[in-house]
Amino acid sequence: MNRRLFLFFVAAAALAAVLGSGVVGAPAAEPMKVSASFSILGDMVKQVGGDRVEVFTFVGPNGDAHVYEPTPADAKELSESKILFTNGLGLEGWMTRLEKSSGFKGTVVTASKGVAPRKMVEDEKTITDPHAWQSLANGKIYVANIRDALIAADPEGKATYEANAQKFLDSIAQMETKVKEAIAKLPPERRKIITTHDAFGYFGAAYGLEFIAPEGVSTESEATAKDVAKIITQIKKEKIPAVFLENVTDRRLLDQIAKETGAKIGGTLFSDALSPPDGPAGTYLDMFRNNNEILSEALSS
Ligand SMILES: [Zn+2]
Repeated sequence: MNRRLFLFFVAAAALAAVLGSGVVGAPAAEPMKVSASFSILGDMVKQVGGDRVEVFTFVGPNGDAHVYEPTPADAKELSESKILFTNGLGLEGWMTRLEKSSGFKGTVVTASKGVAPRKMVEDEKTITDPHAWQSLANGKIYVANIRDALIAADPEGKATYEANAQKFLDSIAQMETKVKEAIAKLPPERRKIITTHDAFGYFGAAYGLEFIAPEGVSTESEATAKDVAKIITQIKKEKIPAVFLENVTDRRLLDQIAKETGAKIGGTLFSDALSPPDGPAGTYLDMFRNNNEILSEALSS
């Protein structure tokens, strides 16, 4: 081989190495690819995984995780993922189909595993409430499950995942104290409120508020005229002070209810999705910070 040809091969090999590593200057190891079903869970996985993990989220900011049409891009991302994180408890009815169509060969991790599920009767059927993340105590269970799954898939990252999870758990505990203190200050007669769909059962049970919703625990079925009439009567009779919009539901129904009852619109709560990163609820913790502020402000006077 002559010298010029040799140099060409050396340069080509170096170029291939750089392209192969993804980003120039990145650490030698590629981040592990994982998928998460919706934005709230996606953020939790990012907090625990840090730089070692690249998270793809199917249902993005302000998206509705109850009803979702997976795209071919989702199937491709999932097929390249080592772990699929789901909420479980019946939230992601569309996931089985996506898993099948993607040919996913990795591990499915149900982040809510170990949570005590809220059961309720809706249209004479007993159903499970999927919104377990709305209690910070449950959020800690999610974080532990995520940490353990990441360690199992990437044992070399154990120390990093443990440290990240501990930091996140400490912040969740601090937020828990904050929310409990704020809600405890609210007058008891102002602790019953309306949202569009029944997403805050775990929040209400954990912190002492009662949420009532014309739609059930899924956004799949719309509220009937009878459901709406019943809520309007209840708001008037019980002098319920405020109705709250949600980032994942249409506001028209609550506008109508507010108009007919005189209840005030207390603001927008983040229920099943985060805001975009530059919004008021770009992370799991900011979602609680925002919801806590909105509820406290609207209900304290
Ligand atoms: Zn929901």
